[in-house]
Amino acid sequence: MKKLHTLSFALTFSLLLGCAAPETSPKKIDGAKVTASADAVSGPTLEAPATSTRFFDTVNSPAILIFTETRDWRHEEGIVGGSLAIMKAAKEMGYGYFSTEHSAIFNAKELEKFEIVVFNNMTGDALTKPQEEAFEAWLAEGKGAVLIHGSGDSSHQDWGFYHNEMLGATFVSHPADPQFQDARVEVLNRAHPVMAGIGQDFIAHEEWYTFAAPPSDDFIMLAGLDESTYSPVNNVWGDVSDLRMGPEPEDHPVIWARCLGENQSRVVYTAMGHRHETYDAREATLILNNALNWTARKTDPESQGCQK
Ligand SMILES: [Zn+2]
Repeated sequence: MKKLHTLSFALTFSLLLGCAAPETSPKKIDGAKVTASADAVSGPTLEAPATSTRFFDTVNSPAILIFTETRDWRHEEGIVGGSLAIMKAAKEMGYGYFSTEHSAIFNAKELEKFEIVVFNNMTGDALTKPQEEAFEAWLAEGKGAVLIHGSGDSSHQDWGFYHNEMLGATFVSHPADPQFQDARVEVLNRAHPVMAGIGQDFIAHEEWYTFAAPPSDDFIMLAGLDESTYSPVNNVWGDVSDLRMGPEPEDHPVIWARCLGENQSRVVYTAMGHRHETYDAREATLILNNALNWTARKTDPESQGCQK
């Protein structure tokens, strides 16, 4: 649970929403006069409405919420590239979208607009306890979530539900020299809707995460790494570290899914997405699009992808 106020969200709103100019007209929201100008930067607190912008009202529902707050490592390129890829996918889906770095959006009233939340490289303790509870209640209604790359690092352990039930694995480290490597990704569940259109395997260039252990059997493994095709024994910040998880792709999963609760809320994690170049590759973009469609229940109406 975070305690500090976020003071820099307004600028990021403008950048991520692609606004040509900052909104300047005052607008009444919940009785408070706020603007999206510099005044707003020093005004709102975590408890203030996150959507103090007229753009929010124009977003068609159903919609995708793209959440990119970083209180730990910031993946500048992955945030921008991933958000753009999600916006393109949303248009193809006929969905609206809204991106923000301000966690106050996690309240029952505003979450209602969305079918899925994408945690695009969210890092650190980004949500307050009430915000975490609002998200969990919303997800339990049968909504969906997609977690991208840094959203699966080890900086979210204060939020037990997120770390244990949605992510299910604890990040250890990644190679640093070289940091980005080609590796063979093997599809572990070719019948799953998230892997539709992907062959048995593909080569991807990425910063490859290693986890303490694969997620439990509660999760559905979708793809894993062939460690013989890159260097998992690597220089990590000055120390040579052995980041091997095992010789088989099943030993080193990098994409997985879960269906949670009685409404089988769909969640997908993909470890790919450090840089914007990730989305230059057909496979990563297709997997992202598939994950958005599946978690939004646009595909797989019988929930066969929830079968383990
Ligand atoms: Zn990264």
